[in-house]
Amino acid sequence: MPNNLEKILIQKISEGGVLDLGEFIELALTHPEYGYYMYRDPFGEAGDFTTAPEISQMFGEVIGAWVANIWMQMGRPTSFNLIEVGAGRGTLMADIMRSCKSVSGFADAAQIHFIEASKSLCEKQSDALRPHNASWHNNIVDINVDRPCIILGNEFIDALPVEQLKRGEKGWQKRVVIAENDNLSFDWQEADKDLIELLPQKTESNQLYEVSPSRKTFISECSNLLKKSGGVALFIDYGYVKSHYGDTLQAIKNHEFTEVLEDIGECDITTHVDFDALSRQVKSLGLTVEPIITQREFLSSIGIEIRASALKKISDNKADIAKDLERLIGRKHMGDLFKVMCFYK
Ligand code: SAH
Repeated sequence: MPNNLEKILIQKISEGGVLDLGEFIELALTHPEYGYYMYRDPFGEAGDFTTAPEISQMFGEVIGAWVANIWMQMGRPTSFNLIEVGAGRGTLMADIMRSCKSVSGFADAAQIHFIEASKSLCEKQSDALRPHNASWHNNIVDINVDRPCIILGNEFIDALPVEQLKRGEKGWQKRVVIAENDNLSFDWQEADKDLIELLPQKTESNQLYEVSPSRKTFISECSNLLKKSGGVALFIDYGYVKSHYGDTLQAIKNHEFTEVLEDIGECDITTHVDFDALSRQVKSLGLTVEPIITQREFLSSIGIEIRASALKKISDNKADIAKDLERLIGRKHMGDLFKVMCFYK
């Protein structure tokens, strides 16, 4: 029996013939009533997956030091927008604000904003941030441009929908979702011109490429905001440094991979982020983008090992701190898989 969200998808397909992969991902994750993120807390051991801020406070603390340093480099403005997109439980922001407590003037200057689709996670963010004030928005374009901005996003871009394209005998085809007798399955259909335009210049036949109009729009919106207001954006996600082909669509439930078209709305759906494509786009919009580095390189460069040593001195649980550090920067864990993109005006 299809669940409520599957019924809605089947109804939409009966009206329009097919659902583009991107539309499908968007509905599966953020349908206002039945989307995966809307009414659950998917994080941690008891949830479906664990993110870096949920592994250890060290992650947010060193990013806090990085944010404070950027604020100082901007000339310590008395008011700036500290924006986090897709903040989950709000742990990263709470750790940033705690670690910056002793930075004179920082907390008063920081106007905290969250861009968040999930009402229930907005509530968690509000609880986590107390006693700081914050505001919530649906879209980054709603942020006021009258002061500099620092934009942060951890594991947000991977949740924005992609389309998959493959060139066969009939030219470029896009992956779509179809319904037959209440069963959803994938199929291929002629790809639209605006999707083909997003492909890398050189492509190989019979290989699958992922392109993302949603990510492109989001990065344009961030770039336009920074152009007007000044400031810096930092995005951390699993992804690759050079654009290449390959199917990275995956669904996760209870810390295990599952089928994308099974339990729709009950599992997280993501794809790797093509940081190469996003960097090229930021450059073309006239901003400066730093070379993409690994999470390991980034966290080490901003002192996570020093922070881990300091924590070990005051903690009874030194082994746990070492284990958490390894999960965050170890090559076999998040260290190499996750990449960091930073751009600014
Ligand atoms: N940054 C957090 C959570 C990552 S999970 C952490 O690292 O723990 C992805 C987050 O993005 C969730 O908070 C989810 O509700 C939010 N999200 C997903 N799609 C979104 C969209 N289109 N607009 C706004 N928020 C979205």
